[in-house]
Amino acid sequence: MDYHDSPEEAAFRREVRDFVSREAPEEYRVHHRPPVDAGGSGDDTLQEWRRRVASKGWLAAHWPKAYGGASLPVIQQFILKEEFALQRVIHPGNRGVEMVGPTIIMHGSDTQKAAMLPPILRGEHVYCQGFSEPGAGSDLASLQLRATRDGDDYVLNGQKIWTSNATTCNQMFLLARSDPEAPKHRGISYFVTPVDVPGLSIRPIPDMAGGADLCETFFDNVRIPAANRIGDENRGWYVAMTTLDFERSGIAGAVGIFLGVRDLIARLPKERMTLARSHRLADFLIAASVARLMAYHVADLQNRGRVPNHEASMVKLFSSELMRRIDTEAVSMFGLQGALWKGNGGREVRDGRYARALSGSLPAVIAGGTSEVQRGIIATRGLGLPRG
Ligand SMILES: Cc1cc2nc3c(=O)[nH]c(=O)nc-3n(C[C@H](O)[C@H](O)[C@H](O)COP(=O)(O)OP(=O)(O)OC[C@H]3O[C@@H](n4cnc5c(N)ncnc54)[C@H](O)[C@@H]3O)c2cc1C
Repeated sequence: MDYHDSPEEAAFRREVRDFVSREAPEEYRVHHRPPVDAGGSGDDTLQEWRRRVASKGWLAAHWPKAYGGASLPVIQQFILKEEFALQRVIHPGNRGVEMVGPTIIMHGSDTQKAAMLPPILRGEHVYCQGFSEPGAGSDLASLQLRATRDGDDYVLNGQKIWTSNATTCNQMFLLARSDPEAPKHRGISYFVTPVDVPGLSIRPIPDMAGGADLCETFFDNVRIPAANRIGDENRGWYVAMTTLDFERSGIAGAVGIFLGVRDLIARLPKERMTLARSHRLADFLIAASVARLMAYHVADLQNRGRVPNHEASMVKLFSSELMRRIDTEAVSMFGLQGALWKGNGGREVRDGRYARALSGSLPAVIAGGTSEVQRGIIATRGLGLPRG
């Protein structure tokens, strides 16, 4: 496998690098922001950045040109994300651009494409994901939110949980059970709906980091027009698989880890240097390089027209577990002060960023499929082992 850029790829890389260093808002270049924005279309800086990136055709670089994308080859999409991450600048894509849009392109009708895609590109429709339920997380197909057909509508009753950013998004894509008699994977339909509809209520769940991005969402006779069902009735599971395939890409995360380790090494207080710690940091640097190569491997597979499966699980598992170990090390590296949050009279280290990062990397091994589930995928689909 050759990971060097072809002359054409190198030229594209330079173009992206110049664009980001010239056009990115100052605050994004100084403060690293997460690679997928939380939602909230009310952020003016983000909206302006989204507009600039969209004007280059790079907001939805993977969408076909016919729908406002750039039809970029996979390897150039990869370079694009990598260059943003290397400059620690957020790519202003969100769940609409990354997950729902491609799903609508693949499974939606022409009418749905015309109505639903442009507001995503303009940043007007910002989506949250209503998949998980109290009794359906890893075993998602057990979901119970009920969708009953009533004339031109479906009527939804039940509950979702862990809906990230539901309070700041204005749209939701969700799965609901439209045929309770069918085998569980075959009785599910896929819908999109505005969040602000009668009967839909949201309750934020406070987390240990003091945030409340995760939410419970309750459906009490919520009406969703049948025109908002994506794909055929009861085929929603297969539509959802498209969405989940688009959830795992990995490169921005892998580059972030690499930069994070280098940064940590540069800032290690001399008095806290021990032989054991220096060896752990050496291991992290090696592991971060491996994470990056694994992400390249996934892009390379896609570039050759193959659908990464257990390979994407390997990236997710390896990167999220590595990040958790690095963030734990970072907090302990600065002693008790490393564990302090912002607002501790200046005793906290670098605005409490290490404590904050650790509180973010702990749930990352659960979100998007837990580490145990990823290991199960690698064992069965990667190694061909029987299910335990
Ligand atoms: C930060 C964060 C953000 C999230 N955002 C969203 C969102 O926006 N929308 C959304 O729909 N969901 C979201 N989720 C939910 C997430 O997808 C689920 O938490 C995840 O799929 C696990 O499901 P669960 O919490 O029900 O745990 P469970 O599935 O009940 O798992 C409990 C434990 O059992 C283990 N386990 C389960 N099945 C197996 C198995 N087959 N083999 C071995 N071990 C197993 C798990 O690894 C875990 O340790 C988010 C979660 C987090 C933490």
